[in-house]
Amino acid sequence: MSTLRFKVVDEAFNRKAHHVDIPAERPEVYYGKYVFNRQKMFEYLPKKTFEVLVNAIDNKESLPLDVADSVAQGMMRWAIDNGARHYSHWFHPLTDGTAEKHDAFVQHDGKGGMVEEFNGKLLVQQEPDASSFPNGGIRNTFEARGYSAWDISSPAFILDKTLCIPTIFISYTGESLDYKTPLLRALNAVDRAATVVARYFDPSVRHVMSYLGWEQEYFLVDEALYSARPDLMLTGRTLMGHESAKNQQLEDHYFGAIPSRVEAFMLDLEIECHKLGIPAKTRHNEVAPNQFELAPIFEETNLSNDHNLLLMGLMTEVARRHNFRVLLHEKPFSGINGSGKHNNWSLGTDTGKLLFAPGKTAEDNLQFFVFVANVLAAVHNHNGLLKASIMSATNAHRLGANEAPPAIISIFLGSQLSGILDKIEEMSAEDLINLSAKEGMKLNLTQIPEIMLDSTDRNRTSPFAFTGNRFEFRAVGSSANCASAMIALNAAMAAQLQDFAAKVDARVASGEQLKRVILDETKALISAHRTICFDGNGYSDEWKEEAARRGLDCETSAPKIFDSYLSPESVAMFGKTGVFSPVELAARNEVKWEMYTKKIQIEARVLGDLAINHVIPVATRYQSLLLDNVFKIKSLFSSEKWTAIAAQDMVAIENISEHIAVIREEVRQMVDARKTANRIDSEREKAVAYHDNVLPHMVKIRYHIDKLELHVDDEMWPLPKYRELLFIR
Ligand code: ADP
Ligand code: MG
Repeated sequence: MSTLRFKVVDEAFNRKAHHVDIPAERPEVYYGKYVFNRQKMFEYLPKKTFEVLVNAIDNKESLPLDVADSVAQGMMRWAIDNGARHYSHWFHPLTDGTAEKHDAFVQHDGKGGMVEEFNGKLLVQQEPDASSFPNGGIRNTFEARGYSAWDISSPAFILDKTLCIPTIFISYTGESLDYKTPLLRALNAVDRAATVVARYFDPSVRHVMSYLGWEQEYFLVDEALYSARPDLMLTGRTLMGHESAKNQQLEDHYFGAIPSRVEAFMLDLEIECHKLGIPAKTRHNEVAPNQFELAPIFEETNLSNDHNLLLMGLMTEVARRHNFRVLLHEKPFSGINGSGKHNNWSLGTDTGKLLFAPGKTAEDNLQFFVFVANVLAAVHNHNGLLKASIMSATNAHRLGANEAPPAIISIFLGSQLSGILDKIEEMSAEDLINLSAKEGMKLNLTQIPEIMLDSTDRNRTSPFAFTGNRFEFRAVGSSANCASAMIALNAAMAAQLQDFAAKVDARVASGEQLKRVILDETKALISAHRTICFDGNGYSDEWKEEAARRGLDCETSAPKIFDSYLSPESVAMFGKTGVFSPVELAARNEVKWEMYTKKIQIEARVLGDLAINHVIPVATRYQSLLLDNVFKIKSLFSSEKWTAIAAQDMVAIENISEHIAVIREEVRQMVDARKTANRIDSEREKAVAYHDNVLPHMVKIRYHIDKLELHVDDEMWPLPKYRELLFIR
């Protein structure tokens, strides 16, 4: 099969006009068209129902069943008015992605006909037969029930003519089987704990929200080329492929002009996002060829995460209209940058104050320092856990490579904020309290220069960076459910703030002055946890050594990184915040190890198959052409001449033989390693065996296949090459 054919397909497509259905109205008219938001609630619900529902959402209260019935009626009418015929509970199982089970709005009417019906019970709770979702052994097959229950804090929406109701997913015995349940628990915990601390400064604060603004990176490839790569289709990444002569060396892709075909896709996607209430805002090229990014305006974390999951599904669908495939894998191509999903995270009060933003007054800035100091402590105490929260078989390819954050969690603060923390550390609480506004200004304590907001961080090597009014968790992978990172981070912060408030309250109760105690405790946190801060080059080897000296978690093996979830500190932290019980933690780790094993297992099988059934036969065929040629040369030329003429062919023949021999042997050993690993009962040990004993063979096999790619006739090579996959014109 000639790869040239694909080039022709590709170019023919490129010459066509790229069509996008642009709505006649402006975005403000169609924005949220398919979302049952407050405006639709007001329109479709009786006044009383509307009031009870809004109150329940705002105050995190549960909804009486008679009100749920009334909501269901209104919701169904709205959905039907907008073309929906089905409804579905939409949830986030422990696989990455979302799950839905659709039911039509129809019921027997008792007279041989049908009526469209939907009620509160169906809205609020369902029992999907969920025995085949990963659950880590929580549900035995005889008790294979899982419940999905409506999350009223995230609005229902219509997708593909189906009313989707965001739900949590829990087992019969109440354990979470999804990402949403623990995320809501973590958000509640951080709300409660942060509210206590925020009230030291402003007693009118009633709630603290966690905000998330993700930046989704992705690759696009032409659909025809994608279909000719079984590895991309089955594993989401290329398991082989020699680097293209031109990659990202010229740095000509980042923020470059977007190819018109891609631009059409992006516009189409943005319109779909806006109809679903996803506030997509920024789009641009990323560093690698064919790599792009989409970022929305940040939102409350639970909603923002629903929107990210919705977006990932939407992208895949919209891309196909444009004959593209979206690659959300963290490392689809070796040798060029992988994809991440920066999680911009902040906390803010219901009075409108961002708690990681420096303020205008000394009081505001004290509050800012208190929250920053608590972030240092939370991230320091749980750096191993935070790494575990972003780790996966796929993200493991990206972390630690020379382009993405290292597999060590540290915080970048920037020179200005670091300098201020130095000063706070040096001064006594007494001196700090006695600072006049003017003196404070000199020390940058009361007035933090505006520039700090913009110039904070261009150090891209840090996994967790302060960026002016938020922290940016950059180690999150592009295919991940952000909830995993947000659960760990918000829970760790909640636990830390609980500790902080307990200490402050105890000292105040024994007669000390509140402000002095706060300063004192903040100073203590800064001193104890500065070791988590690192502003230097996170890619360097020196940092790895330094981090180990500082006692930070430096484990690089994904299955062992997951152990952090089960450490006594993690179990205690998740327990006291009510986010995970020990049973849940144990079960979820089983799922993590199992998923890790399965992903490597699938990759290893695909690679073995491609190596033996695609690559070796072609390489052998090409080698036999060369052999033919040598024989012909030999028969035509004198014995002195032919050896010289055929010399290079002979070298190539030998090279090809060597590569083929190594590939065969490595595939044999890889299959053996898999068989041995598969016999292990413990999920953890099995995953470790896959990591230690299977993966290394894959790396070697790939190396030799990529060498063969350089030898074999381009016309014969069975798979589209990097240079073809990576350059959309
Ligand atoms: P950059 O690429 O420079 O990091 P982007 O503009 O691509 O910046 O993305 C920044 C993201 O951070 C956006 O999603 C934005 O909405 C989000 N963001 C901005 N302020 C906050 C905040 N206070 N809390 C959470 N997210 C925020
Ligand atoms: Mg960013």
